[in-house]
Amino acid sequence: MNFHKLKSTLRDLQEPNFRYKQIVSAFCKKGVLDYSQISNISKKLVKDLKERIKPLSFSAEKIYSANNNLSFKARLKLNDGELIETVFLSPLPGAWSACVSSQAGCKLACKFCATGQSGFKRNLSSEEITDQVVFWKHFSREKKLNGNFSNIIFMGMGEPFMNWDEVKSAIKQLVDPEFFGFGSRHISVSTSGVVDGIKKLANDFPQVNLAISLIFPEDSLRSEYMPINRKFNLKKLQLAISSYLNKTNRKVFLEYVMLKGINDDLKQADNLIDFINTIENGRKLLHVNLIRYNTTMVEFIPSDLGTVNKFKNHLLRKSIKTTIRKSLGDEIKGACGQLAG
Ligand code: SAH
Ligand code: SF4
Repeated sequence: MNFHKLKSTLRDLQEPNFRYKQIVSAFCKKGVLDYSQISNISKKLVKDLKERIKPLSFSAEKIYSANNNLSFKARLKLNDGELIETVFLSPLPGAWSACVSSQAGCKLACKFCATGQSGFKRNLSSEEITDQVVFWKHFSREKKLNGNFSNIIFMGMGEPFMNWDEVKSAIKQLVDPEFFGFGSRHISVSTSGVVDGIKKLANDFPQVNLAISLIFPEDSLRSEYMPINRKFNLKKLQLAISSYLNKTNRKVFLEYVMLKGINDDLKQADNLIDFINTIENGRKLLHVNLIRYNTTMVEFIPSDLGTVNKFKNHLLRKSIKTTIRKSLGDEIKGACGQLAG
């Protein structure tokens, strides 16, 4: 919702001041999209608002569900016709996370990523970002899903640090108790390694979680599959992570998508260990998340489960904190990297 427009509209309609807060709260906290469901609002005001302000900046084209209603994906059509996707999932019983998009498409063109391969359309506005959250609030109410919607992850389409101004205002609203009131520590931003963005996050939101899609701990390989590495190579990334850890003293996730025969042998595990060991406090604060590749492109094959376990045990033996992330959205192509407009 465009809150500036809401405010000025209510002023034009000579509504009392509390009305703005009341509508913002119903919309952001409860996902109420129908003005008539807000208590103590006159029929006349409902009608006026309906005519002037559309609650959401997109319409839902299609909603997919999977895993016994533990994950959902929505395809949304923005007002200019561009398509984006957003995912709602319950990784733990009773807890729900929204995985939101920050751009329609992505410029960074990582070879293994469906979004990257589908090209870049445009940046999303902060309104289009926070509306994805409202959309899922509304959805979980309608569906009577059990549990608490507590987490937001910027792991949908796009690179959040390539659209930082809008992502930043979205996060400001998400953590603002007058708007959404999410805890900073319940919000995560994932980057492919846009170094200046990592600095901005540490300054702007030191409590928001950072995840880095490392995936290739060797420059030649990383540059081949993730073109961003030609601008910000592993050395630059290491320096950025070091200063981030120094400044925030927070745990950072290194995402490692496992691609059969490409980055899943123990030589790469050793490179990953070296990468972590070179960073001051790396062993303490960095946490590796192994993710089996979700098939999106024919050229890549997910690593075998046995290989993933071997890789994990090798890291654990060297005292590197490591987990295997289970994929929840695969059935609905709503898993990481499978989002494409
Ligand atoms: N642009 C940001 C955030 C969006 S991508 C980034 O790259 O971090 C979200 C996550 O999906 C990243 O960790 C990315 O590495 C991962 N990913 C991309 N394609 C994938 C695939 N096909 N299978 C599994 N994970 C994938
Ligand atoms: Fe963009 Fe992230 Fe996909 Fe790379 S992995 S193309 S940065 S969305």
